[in-house]
Amino acid sequence: MKRLLCLILISVLLCMGCLAEGMDMPAWEYPLEPEILENKSGYITLVDREHLLGSDYEPSDLVTINIRCVSSIKGDMLRKAALKAAQRMFDAAEADGMILYLKSVYRAYSTQKYMYNNRLNNVGRDDGVVAYPGSSDHQTGLGADILNLEWTKKSGMTPAFAQTAEAQWMDQHCAEYGFIIRYMEDKEAITGIIYEPWHLRYVGEEAARYIMDNHLSLEEFDEEWHAYIEDWESRGGDFKELLRIRAIPNPAEVLYTTEEGEEEISLFP
Ligand SMILES: [Zn+2]
Repeated sequence: MKRLLCLILISVLLCMGCLAEGMDMPAWEYPLEPEILENKSGYITLVDREHLLGSDYEPSDLVTINIRCVSSIKGDMLRKAALKAAQRMFDAAEADGMILYLKSVYRAYSTQKYMYNNRLNNVGRDDGVVAYPGSSDHQTGLGADILNLEWTKKSGMTPAFAQTAEAQWMDQHCAEYGFIIRYMEDKEAITGIIYEPWHLRYVGEEAARYIMDNHLSLEEFDEEWHAYIEDWESRGGDFKELLRIRAIPNPAEVLYTTEEGEEEISLFP
């Protein structure tokens, strides 16, 4: 009897799966899974002058940094996933003889505003060195300035940091840990920010590999995937529905769980 019930249940689940698969939608052909673009985690959120974060935005999963950093930022924070990834990257870099230091991590809106106004007062104009309040990648809790020892002792950063072995190592390997170079050399006109080989931004491993392999700025990536969804939906796709269907458990996995849970039932005697 139990076996019969189980078989009926499995048939129903398989049937639901078939119905879901058979929905009339064009194939999803973007190189990244739709769940990444759903961006529930906020890892691929674009923040710049045109995409401002609110003055009250503060990530919910900030944790205190516990890896090598300059002493002035002890007690500062990063989002949990970004810190974990940075830890792994620091370890890998060290194995290759590179000692990395965190210099600047999460920056609250109020801090950013203070820094921006200071710069305005000192220079007399917005010279692009300090980001406009709400436009800083540091407010996401996913952006981090990472240097070598020599540069931690300098008062300011310049693109010459790119010539260091550490910067070159990061450019080559950061994507393996989910980071991108947020402000690339030849993307200044797009990002509105000078080349910053020290500013890494966590976006998750899959997105990072795609972005770095294709040498995209986060702005270009954001535009590209939004355009893909728009086009895909114009061809009959429904992004929300796709996510819903994909969230339905795979019948094969359900079968496996059932078998494990009830040992006396064997479907393949
Ligand atoms: Zn930075």
